[in-house]
Amino acid sequence: MSLTTLAPGATIGIIGGGQLGRMSAMAAARLGYHVHVLSAEPDPPAQDTAHRVTIGAYDDEAVLRAFAQSVSAITFEFENISASGLDLLASLCPVHPAGSILAISQDRILEKSFLGDHDIPVADWVSVPDRDALPEAVASLGFPFILKTTRFGYDGKGQFRIADQEAIDALAAHLPYPLIAEGFVDFERELSVMVARNEAGEIRCFSTTENQHRDGILDYSLAPARIPVALAEEAQRLAAHIATTIGLVGIMGVEMFVSARGALLVNEIAPRPHNSGHWTMDACLIDQFEMHIRAVAGLPLPDPFRHSDAAMKNLIGFEGVGLCDAVLAQPGLALHLYGKHETRAGRKMGHVNALFPLGALPGPYGIAARFDQALKPALEIAQEP
Ligand code: AMP
Repeated sequence: MSLTTLAPGATIGIIGGGQLGRMSAMAAARLGYHVHVLSAEPDPPAQDTAHRVTIGAYDDEAVLRAFAQSVSAITFEFENISASGLDLLASLCPVHPAGSILAISQDRILEKSFLGDHDIPVADWVSVPDRDALPEAVASLGFPFILKTTRFGYDGKGQFRIADQEAIDALAAHLPYPLIAEGFVDFERELSVMVARNEAGEIRCFSTTENQHRDGILDYSLAPARIPVALAEEAQRLAAHIATTIGLVGIMGVEMFVSARGALLVNEIAPRPHNSGHWTMDACLIDQFEMHIRAVAGLPLPDPFRHSDAAMKNLIGFEGVGLCDAVLAQPGLALHLYGKHETRAGRKMGHVNALFPLGALPGPYGIAARFDQALKPALEIAQEP
């Protein structure tokens, strides 16, 4: 098989016009590429940074055909594209990562099955196609457990924590089947690894990252994670193993739990740039977006060269927008805004990165001390357990 490398001046197509597309387009421009974004929403955040934007439906055959014919390779920042749409695109133009990978990540049951089939540890789970399957979930998982929609869930949406039989009796008739039931992981912390792989099989992992969520949405990330080196390396090995076995070309976020007993369990994979990799924009010579574009364009994947430890704080909704002036006024913080015109509760409006000398990521108080009084209340960094 001959490997294709895109020459500078080539156009990369990105499906989805959100902040991940916006920041991917910036990285592509740095490498001399043009970007053509396809967005279903008008006024997408990526319109400020892309060379060209088409507003059109992801299932409109004519739109997809014209889009594929205008670019040299296609990638996506948005996971809910139909399999038939991706097949059509792939018949006209290289698509990275492949549609088969997206199909796995789109469906929690396919995802858990794929991971289990390749000896990747995951939480116990049971398929719940309809309410008749709920007793089996109770019998095999016990209380509490979590029900999740098999498709289209994100940022904790489509999840139901089931504490006891009363909760099932109250919800069973109203749940959006098909679902997956997952054993509740009493995790010690959450981690993620961003892993990139190109067609030549080169693989790079960014430092294992520690993530804290609030209301189901990523609140902040710390890199490197405050865990033993051996566990951080094990997380990277798992991510690299998934990237190889799934045939990844591009970048992928692998989300994991550290169980109470210190074991790693993979929660989900996202074959695209990922919010928990935003710290790389200021703490690495080559960030997650450039690594992704390099992989898609068939370029070499060098060591990303992390020169600093980092804390990334998401700016979410009105509270996040309200922090911007304080972030701008404070030295040592890098502000990234996504150009979204409308602020809504729970909407990711931007993020802020703080850097620390290598090996000197301080404890929670030290990190908070880096942010001024206005920011501290929003920075509830978890204490060491
Ligand atoms: P997900 O949509 O699967 O990424 O889940 C969103 C968040 O819900 C995760 O980051 C965890 O904080 C929590 N969560 C998901 N699955 C589980 C589980 N099986 N046990 C405990 N917490 C979970």
